[in-house]
Amino acid sequence: MSRALETDRTTWGSRLHAQLMPDYNRAATVYWWSVVCLGAAALATAVWHLASRPAEVWLHLALGLGLALLAALFPVRVPGTRNSYAAGEIFIFLLLLVDGVAPAMVAAAGDGFMGSYRSSKRWTSRLISPAAAALGMGVAGSLLQQLRALAAVADSAAWLLAATMAFAALYFLCTAVLLGGVPRFKRGEAFFQASDLVGVFHWVGMAYVGSATLATLLFSLAQLQGGAVLLVMAPLLVLLLAALHLYFRQQESTLALREAEGAAREREAAAEAREAESQARHLEALRRSEQRFAAAFTHAWIGMALMDFDGRILLSNRALAALLGHDEAALQQMNFMDLVAADDRTALYQKLGLAGGREFEGFTHELRCIGRDGGPVWVALHCGFFTEPEADRPCLIVQLQDTSARRRAEAGLQHLAFHDALTGLPNRRRFHECLAGALSRSRVDASHHFAVMFLDFDRFKLVNDSLGHSAGDALLMQVARRIQEKLRPADVVARLGGDEFAVLVDHIEHERDAVVLAERLMEALARPFQLGELEIRTGASIGITFSALQYASAEEMLRDADTAMYKAKSQGRAAGRAGYALFDASLHRSVSHRLHLEGELRRAVERGELELHYQPLVRLADGSLAGFEALVRWQHPDRGTLSPLSFLPVAEDGGLMLQLTDFVLHCACRQLRQWLELAPQQPALTMSVNVSAQDIAQRAFVARVGRALVESGLRPEQLTLELTEHVLMSRLEGAVDTLGELRRLGVRLAVDDFGSGYSSLAHLARLPIDSLKIDRSFVQQMRRSTDEAAVVRAIVQLGGTLRKRVVAEGVESPEQAELLREMGCELAQGFHWSLPLTAAAAGALLQRPASRQL
Ligand code: C2E
Ligand code: CA
Ligand code: CA
Repeated sequence: MSRALETDRTTWGSRLHAQLMPDYNRAATVYWWSVVCLGAAALATAVWHLASRPAEVWLHLALGLGLALLAALFPVRVPGTRNSYAAGEIFIFLLLLVDGVAPAMVAAAGDGFMGSYRSSKRWTSRLISPAAAALGMGVAGSLLQQLRALAAVADSAAWLLAATMAFAALYFLCTAVLLGGVPRFKRGEAFFQASDLVGVFHWVGMAYVGSATLATLLFSLAQLQGGAVLLVMAPLLVLLLAALHLYFRQQESTLALREAEGAAREREAAAEAREAESQARHLEALRRSEQRFAAAFTHAWIGMALMDFDGRILLSNRALAALLGHDEAALQQMNFMDLVAADDRTALYQKLGLAGGREFEGFTHELRCIGRDGGPVWVALHCGFFTEPEADRPCLIVQLQDTSARRRAEAGLQHLAFHDALTGLPNRRRFHECLAGALSRSRVDASHHFAVMFLDFDRFKLVNDSLGHSAGDALLMQVARRIQEKLRPADVVARLGGDEFAVLVDHIEHERDAVVLAERLMEALARPFQLGELEIRTGASIGITFSALQYASAEEMLRDADTAMYKAKSQGRAAGRAGYALFDASLHRSVSHRLHLEGELRRAVERGELELHYQPLVRLADGSLAGFEALVRWQHPDRGTLSPLSFLPVAEDGGLMLQLTDFVLHCACRQLRQWLELAPQQPALTMSVNVSAQDIAQRAFVARVGRALVESGLRPEQLTLELTEHVLMSRLEGAVDTLGELRRLGVRLAVDDFGSGYSSLAHLARLPIDSLKIDRSFVQQMRRSTDEAAVVRAIVQLGGTLRKRVVAEGVESPEQAELLREMGCELAQGFHWSLPLTAAAAGALLQRPASRQL
């Protein structure tokens, strides 16, 4: 608090000082105050003395001062000069001689104030002049009074005259010395120098002495002859005084002028000194900051360079050299732009205000520089103005921080986020991005056409289930490689998940281009894959759709390719091999229908909407019932009984097949067990159950069959498992072991739809098969001496050779039955004897006597 006040006071005092006497140093200030205060004190004492004097003295003072001021107020001006003339000292000296020191001091002060008031505008001058006059008069006047006392003793006019002359000289000296002190102190010189006075004294001093002499003469004459003398002398006096003041005033103004000049010089010098000092300080600070800067620059961990606006490197540090892999000296010769990767240069030019009409502003920007090996080095670049102390224009300071590691990490993360870990291919998310990009390009550029393919591998699940996941992974990697090999660089292949792949076929001219590629892909993927010792065959079903269909989103386009893929798959199933299909709008409906069906089927299994029908198997030799084939039906709540052909593919694709087979196995085994109890006279009845490719691909299938047998209490040899020839042959490698185990279990095995596939006879002999079921297409076409009849005959003969039973299915007419019997075919089934029957109908059949059963 007190400190604050003190600061306040200092600032107040120094503010006043700065206002009034900015050019006064400490000594000059102290001196000025001393003189003014002493003068004021002396003046006060004089006034105090005057107070006790008679009114006559006051009148004299008023008259003397009045005349003196009048003389000063109306000076005679000299044309062509700034000088004017007035005279007051004669009256002041008269006042001194007549009334003593006190009124003379007051008059001298008044005259001094008036004179300086006119010659100077500064209050420092206006105050010190009367003070000096009062003091000078006080000192010199008191001395004169002492001398007059002695003169009175000597009673000599000459003595008085001499004393007054000496007084005048002293008075002049005192005043001059006192006034001259201020500039001398300001200049830092000694207070008094005799030489200063000499030049002035021979003029002013003489005038003073002259004035004093005149005053003394007038005073003496008036004492002898009375006051009238003064009136007579008045004109003469006026002339004399005018002459005296001529010089005095001139001198005074010269003095004031000098003082002002001195002050100005002082001010200038002080300002110069201050300037020089601050300059020195500034330089020192600069030097130090420069040193600090240089140290910071050189040892900085981040790369730094000073460059001009054209990119020329003026200075660079070690870290920059290390960062970019150049040596320091080489860097100084280079242009920074040459270190920036070509792709990032334009952006940098813009930021620097060298292109694009932009103003330069400090900036931070991430870009690639070129490393020593020519590879990119990612850096965060900060650029700002930098002004070197001696430079005439600013340059740029750039700071570069290596961000490669961060970029690499980001790229890694990006890769993880957008790529499939197993194959390294783009994943579904990335594919969507690419697809969205291509779609927006085709929206802008009508000539930009592309296609999307959706690939699905028919038997991948089987490989995974039967050979294990590592085999599945190995297969996927090989598949990915084969697809990639067939694509052009602009195409994108992605693994969408599982065994689903998608291909973005960019820049196609005609739909044919995509079709040709699809064919090439299928060809490549149909070649067997080597998994360790195993050779695996798989085929891709490919769905294709085109950008020409004007898709709104990537999802839509991919969905339609997927839809087309399902069509390809079902077509392939019918044709027995993989294929491709192009999307059209009707497909979309069928696929959404299929998906709907899949959901319904899932519920159907749980709700028990599935049931079995049983078609009798007949011994051709005597027409007796040999057994039944279980055929699944779906009692759909709205659509009635559905054929297995309509929903089995759905079950297969939806992963419902195993569940369905289990249901059929358990249900059929239980059913036969019941019938055997019902008709003990026919203990040899068999039950045939159709199993799918997915079933036999599973090792656990043997256990599942075993459980069904145990649960129903059926003997294994009474159960026949039917596998289509197609399934069997394509799964041969994986299935052999399972078939062997099933056989050891005691279960019988049949090849269904025999003749429709591509069984090699060598394989057939090797497999643990019990019977061959001739495909019904041959049986139905069979007439005497047709090709089909020849095929059937051959199969029957083959069965005999291989010691396998032969079953003919799809027998619809008595002729067919007769022909088959003649050929030696052992068993048959078909509408000729019976449609597939409900359990109740089949049960009723068994109740009849054996001869009337069929
Ligand atoms: P499939 O194994 O060849 O079964 C015989 C099919 O021929 C049955 O069709 C049957 O109704 C039909 N059929 C029988 N006699 C004649 C005839 O004289 N003329 C004609 N035109 N057809 C006859 P369905 O029941 O529609 O079954 C079709 C296919 O579905 C079956 O062919 C079989 O491959 C499959 N399937 C049926 N049930 C099951 C099952 O429970 N599991 C599995 N995995 N597949 C099944
Ligand atoms: Ca069958
Ligand atoms: Ca069949």
